[in-house]
Amino acid sequence: MTMEKIILAAAALAFWAGAARAEIKVVTASSDLKYLCERVGGAEVKVESLASGDQDLHMVEPRPSLVYKLKKADLVVRVGLDLDMWVDSLINAARNPRLFYGQPGYVDASVGVPLLEKPEGKVDASMGDIHIYGNPHYWLDPANAKIMAANVLAGLKRAAPDKAAVFEANCAGFIKETDERLAGWQDRMAKYKGLKVITYHSSWPYFAARFGLDVAGHVEPKPGIPPSASHLNGLVKKMKAENIKVILTESYYPRKGPDFLAGKTGAAVVTAAVSAGGAKDVKTYFDVFDRVIEGLEKAAGK
Ligand SMILES: [Zn+2]
Repeated sequence: MTMEKIILAAAALAFWAGAARAEIKVVTASSDLKYLCERVGGAEVKVESLASGDQDLHMVEPRPSLVYKLKKADLVVRVGLDLDMWVDSLINAARNPRLFYGQPGYVDASVGVPLLEKPEGKVDASMGDIHIYGNPHYWLDPANAKIMAANVLAGLKRAAPDKAAVFEANCAGFIKETDERLAGWQDRMAKYKGLKVITYHSSWPYFAARFGLDVAGHVEPKPGIPPSASHLNGLVKKMKAENIKVILTESYYPRKGPDFLAGKTGAAVVTAAVSAGGAKDVKTYFDVFDRVIEGLEKAAGK
């Protein structure tokens, strides 16, 4: 064999090896789910998120560019409940049968998550238009990431059964890291047990339950409803009466309401990115908790 032929043979072999290692195309609703899929899927997956980390997931506009992402996807992973209902219209428009509800390529990350604020009895308009199936912001309890990762794992195993062992090992590594980090965060948060906070939107019940905070009120009178002057004045009274010194606001909401409350009460405003990529120093899902806990430490005093 001439040198030329050897080089050609090597090039052909490399080409076929590359072609054989087809990546699984995953599209997620949120950037946190993208992070989880990349951790569990490792080198076997290529993941795109429909929403960016600094977007309010309640408010994502279904656009043609998002439909296009779903057309070639092997797997779609959504937050579920009523947070990302816009994913339904995108799946319908993409007409990719793998991704239809109940098909192997459809993953709802909320399956098995113990829900908070689940409405009992009749749902009526007085409760607001969103959070109708229970509170959908469950990823803000890091312990729930383990359930989300298990749902992702099941979906990836359906997409590529021959890679099951790799995915299982990756998932176990992610769960181990989550447990280790969670223990550290719980240590840091222990001194704030029962600390009363006001939050902008009801994004934080899972975080509060995990770390022992007491959410005493919301800047929004109901989820998705902007604050009125009378609602804000009521909060000022409550904050003064109960000595509430911390306002936690998601980075994509206007600062006007929180700043008004802070001005009247001397409370500190903690602005938090609630998803991976939601701020310059919040690149990963784990960064979300590192930064919000730092913010609370600064606001409430170590
Ligand atoms: Zn919400």
